[in-house]
Amino acid sequence: MSKSETLVLLKPEAVKRQLVGEIISRLEKANFNIERMKLDCFPREVLAELYKEHKGKDFYESIVGGFAGEPIVAMILSGKDNVIKRVRTIMGSTDPAEAVPGTIRGDYAHHMEPDNIMHASDSAESAKREIELFFPEYS
Ligand code: ADP
Ligand code: MG
Repeated sequence: MSKSETLVLLKPEAVKRQLVGEIISRLEKANFNIERMKLDCFPREVLAELYKEHKGKDFYESIVGGFAGEPIVAMILSGKDNVIKRVRTIMGSTDPAEAVPGTIRGDYAHHMEPDNIMHASDSAESAKREIELFFPEYS
């Protein structure tokens, strides 16, 4: 299979708890390449677009409002053979109570809301949309 790309975010709690280096190290050891990376604060509109599929759910305001203006690490990762699915496997389940030990969420996430440490795109369509959202200059 050809090279594929995904968008990863290290959410504000990962930055606050000084887990950035540890998580990037795990991703690099798993043979993903960092194509672009930045630590920045993003406005509410960007988080609202990222999480638009969740609009109306009771946790929506907590994730959108909670991340806006907070330092987040955004990265484009590439790799062979379905990088999107493999990054999600290493990330672990959305709910830390179900995330298997050895996954990033299984080892570091303490709660689901507002912040379970990491985001990764869930499909090729999402990856394309999310890469454009966080790295509009990337092509
Ligand atoms: P994922 O981040 O694993 O792709 P979703 O896209 O379903 O998960 O949800 C986006 C984020 O919203 C999750 O990472 C989590 O922080 C939060 N979230 C999802 N479902 C719930 C829920 N049932 N209760 C509280 N927060 C949730
Ligand atoms: Mg998702």
